[in-house]
Amino acid sequence: MKLMHRTIVIFTALFLVSSLLSVRAEPDSKDTAPSLKGKKVLFVWGGWPGHEPEECRDIFVPWMRAEGAEVTVSDNLEIYKDEDFMQSLDLIVQIWTMGTIEKEQEQGLLKAVKSGIGIAGWHGGLGDAFRNNTEYQFMVGGQWVAHPGGVIDYSVDVIDKEDYVTRGLEKFDMHSEQYYMHVDPNVKVLATTTYNGDHASWIDGAVMPVVWKKRYGDGRVFYNSLGHVASDFDVPEALEMMKRGIRWAAESKYAEKEPWLAPVYK
Ligand SMILES: [Zn+2]
Repeated sequence: MKLMHRTIVIFTALFLVSSLLSVRAEPDSKDTAPSLKGKKVLFVWGGWPGHEPEECRDIFVPWMRAEGAEVTVSDNLEIYKDEDFMQSLDLIVQIWTMGTIEKEQEQGLLKAVKSGIGIAGWHGGLGDAFRNNTEYQFMVGGQWVAHPGGVIDYSVDVIDKEDYVTRGLEKFDMHSEQYYMHVDPNVKVLATTTYNGDHASWIDGAVMPVVWKKRYGDGRVFYNSLGHVASDFDVPEALEMMKRGIRWAAESKYAEKEPWLAPVYK
């Protein structure tokens, strides 16, 4: 009788443990908000100082830490060559306009993203870095080519109302550079801007992606063309999209692969 009792207790305990584990093992539902909690992030800053990489570092690094991320900050691209360190990461955030990257540094960065580590960035820090490196541009999904008129007034249209990054956001105004980019026509575009002909008459009515997501290998890639200077992030929508994009990219290793191909030409 005593043995029977013990067996029942053990089976009950096993059942409870297994049901607890099965609840935990369930895949994240689509609505589970991405999070930086416990994520390992590398923040790399440098390049052309006109894009205020240092000021931007001081916006995003404290915020990521407050969200529970473990952030390593580097003002040097050499860190991309440290394969063990790179493989330990969940996310890379880079602001490095123009400049040059050595072959082994670039290979380290691309290998990390291809293997599943996310990358996120904005404006020239991701979308106008290392102009000679086409494989890098293949990863980003676009390259800056012009900002007609320099700093001007324009608006941003949120075209995807379902995506985590842009859900609940509406059209908003910017006083900044309106980036004209060469963009991979397959990326999933979340926000766009439309040009008038004031500064380049032939692009009157041209529509250009502002925010997109894609993959490079297994790594999530998030890009936002806003952020010419740190004060661009005083615009709540610009900051919010960047924060959500960073959180989204940080889930690269853990979340299910979401469809990103959205071909313009069929
Ligand atoms: Zn700029």
